[in-house]
Amino acid sequence: MRVNDLELKNLLQMDPDSGILRLGNERVLLLDAVALGLLRRELIETLGVVGARAVLTRFGYAHGWRTADNLRTAFPWDSDDEWRRAGGRLHTIQGMVRVVNPSPPPAEVTSQTVYHWTWEDSYEAEQHLLHFGRAEEPVCWTLTGYVSGYSSRAYGREVYIVEHQCRGRGDPVCRLEGRALESWGDAIAAHLPFYKATSVNAALARVTEQLKRTEHRLRARRRELRRHEAAGAEAPATRHVLDIARRVAQVDSTVLLTGESGVGKERLARFIHEHSARAAGPFIAVNCGAVPESLLESELFGHNRGSFTGATQDRIGLFEAANGGTLLLDEIGDVPPGVQVKLLRALQEREIRRVGENRNRPINVRVLAATNRDLVAEIHAARFREDLYYRLRVVEIRVPPLRERREDILSLAQLFLEQAVERTGRTVTGLTPAAAQLLLTYSWPGNVRELANAVERAVVMAQGSRIDVEDLPQEIGLAVPEPVTVGEVRPLAQIERDYIASVLRGVGGNRAQAAAKLGIGAATLYRKLKRFGSGG
Ligand code: ZN
Repeated sequence: MRVNDLELKNLLQMDPDSGILRLGNERVLLLDAVALGLLRRELIETLGVVGARAVLTRFGYAHGWRTADNLRTAFPWDSDDEWRRAGGRLHTIQGMVRVVNPSPPPAEVTSQTVYHWTWEDSYEAEQHLLHFGRAEEPVCWTLTGYVSGYSSRAYGREVYIVEHQCRGRGDPVCRLEGRALESWGDAIAAHLPFYKATSVNAALARVTEQLKRTEHRLRARRRELRRHEAAGAEAPATRHVLDIARRVAQVDSTVLLTGESGVGKERLARFIHEHSARAAGPFIAVNCGAVPESLLESELFGHNRGSFTGATQDRIGLFEAANGGTLLLDEIGDVPPGVQVKLLRALQEREIRRVGENRNRPINVRVLAATNRDLVAEIHAARFREDLYYRLRVVEIRVPPLRERREDILSLAQLFLEQAVERTGRTVTGLTPAAAQLLLTYSWPGNVRELANAVERAVVMAQGSRIDVEDLPQEIGLAVPEPVTVGEVRPLAQIERDYIASVLRGVGGNRAQAAAKLGIGAATLYRKLKRFGSGG
């Protein structure tokens, strides 16, 4: 049998029952070229060009080697020469590439042998062009690997094929040169690594390293989340809020978060997002009160180019950007009536319409809203739509002010301290008892945000390794603690004692100065201190 007797119609058999295709004795697959192109793209995007080239070259090499091995005994060849030439013929028959202009492959390859040929219609070049466009270097990696593998098996020595022109980089045809390893000399050095596992290993090591770093970041993020959850969850009121938040996280309903400014409504919204099935999706928060009225609609819903002055290109809005995730509409009470109507429609229809566009787009977003306003009063004042209010507050969570959950203050302070230490690189480890006492008695009108700012400032100001009274903002040291619930009312004498003590600390223990600040005589102060048992 001779190479030219190899014809597809003689070689290919289909088993009519099973549908299995065989070429010679080997099972083969009909696989469209695009599928291989997609695999190639995956490899390049995952492993990079070097790693992908190594995988595909080695795959081609193994394929070529096996094919040569099988073909040798599959057919009664007239001579080994016919068998050696069959590799290229099979390539053509299988539709991978058309071998044209072949000088007959040499009967044997010695250290002097050099042979050339040309490929047309390489599927590999075609797929590379399709998915990546024109390359800088030849790209028929699988095909050259195949010929190298086939030739090495057929000639019984290391033979390597180098592609020096390629359709994939814009040449009219692919041109190839084959030589034994020793004949290539230094010229093969740039190609050999792709035949060795080391290139793949290097690429895999890089990917593994990236994965490790990502996992590390994720773990750190989870630790951070747990730390956040644990911090400021001492008070029963807080535990109650987190409990509700965990439950509503499981469903997709709209939640209205209310509470004074600075109580941590955005933090709670993020908590709900992180505990929901949407945690892998984006979390986007927009402060509706901070966006000018004229831009809010386009900010939320996006716009088409030319829909208004300044809209120079199409832009997606936050509803689309948050697709698959959670959108927090903060300061919802500040949304103007015109946008309220559109929000209501978006929530009801689960569709939005970009500004300047006349078709609807479906959205897949969980909406949370937050406000420190009394929305019921806003409704009475005809500034907020009642229907939108009810649509938003399917569930309402009121985040209590910090003064109603004093048990949280110190653990939150410790968390903010650690965060500030991380940011500033200062070595501050905690609070002195006196400073802790001040934090506990202060009324925190600015809530958690005020606490965070106070602690961050104190970390920057701290003289010693612990935050002391004089590192805290002055108003904290001088303010009268504000009892909030009847159960917390403390005897006047105790408040007087604490207050005097805090003023004293604020002036560094200077009694004359403290008396002057308090507007009493030094003797009176002395008498009081004596009565409190703190004189001396
Ligand atoms: Zn090529």
